[in-house]
Amino acid sequence: MADRQNGATAGERKLAILHLYPSLMNVYGDRGNVFSLVRRCQWRGIEVEVLEAGLGDRLDPRAFDLAFFGGGQDHEQSAVGDDLVRLKAEPLREAVEAGAALLSICGGYQLLGRFFRTRTGEEIPGIGLFDAWTVAGQRRHIGNVVLRSSLGGEERTLVGFENHSGKTYLGPGCQPLGRVVVGAGNNGEDGAEGGVYRNAFGCYLHGPLLPKNPWFADHLIRCALQRRYGPEASLPALDDRLEELAHAAIAQRAQKLRHQRSGAW
Ligand code: GLN
Repeated sequence: MADRQNGATAGERKLAILHLYPSLMNVYGDRGNVFSLVRRCQWRGIEVEVLEAGLGDRLDPRAFDLAFFGGGQDHEQSAVGDDLVRLKAEPLREAVEAGAALLSICGGYQLLGRFFRTRTGEEIPGIGLFDAWTVAGQRRHIGNVVLRSSLGGEERTLVGFENHSGKTYLGPGCQPLGRVVVGAGNNGEDGAEGGVYRNAFGCYLHGPLLPKNPWFADHLIRCALQRRYGPEASLPALDDRLEELAHAAIAQRAQKLRHQRSGAW
């Protein structure tokens, strides 16, 4: 049935995804998040264009509906930090204020806050999209993560893999994506994981995140569709049995490891 929103039927709907620094900011399979978003759109007949923006590229805030910013080590973060602030900060903020969706992972997430102070004391400026800041910790947090999120008013879990020394703290203008059940999360201290501002999300979950968390992938796609086609834009469900099995497998493995470490298993 034609799914008409603002003149666009399901078969005519298009989305543009912006992939930021794809060659520099891509650790632990983060690029797989873009593949997941593209396929979940295509399975619904939504045409997707992926725009890549690297060093020196300028952005048109109206040219994309969803942006992705992957993780990277301190060295890569230093390499992109100045370019991000000079050339991409304003259009990214403008796009998010206009309702664009955004997903950032670990190093990308850190650079969308106010700053990231590395172990050597270098302070890499962020763009301040998230009211958050990051300082290098004494230890690396490495392992599976399970968190409980009430995004969209529903209690659901997210699973992934973290590997970071940075400890991120949220100010009053940024809400956590969820509460940690297993793992460290933002800083290993306050039980929060990730950050949310409007339809922009940051978190420490590598993996890639989205293939094992289909509900969150669809939340991002729905935000992007509604930004482009209006609040009535809907998204038909997919058969996510395989994705849910992968989700459950990680959650069970993480819980088992936690019990083993606490001796309660
Ligand atoms: N360099 C940052 C840290 O160690 C981010 C690492 C990453 O993106 N996995 O905290």
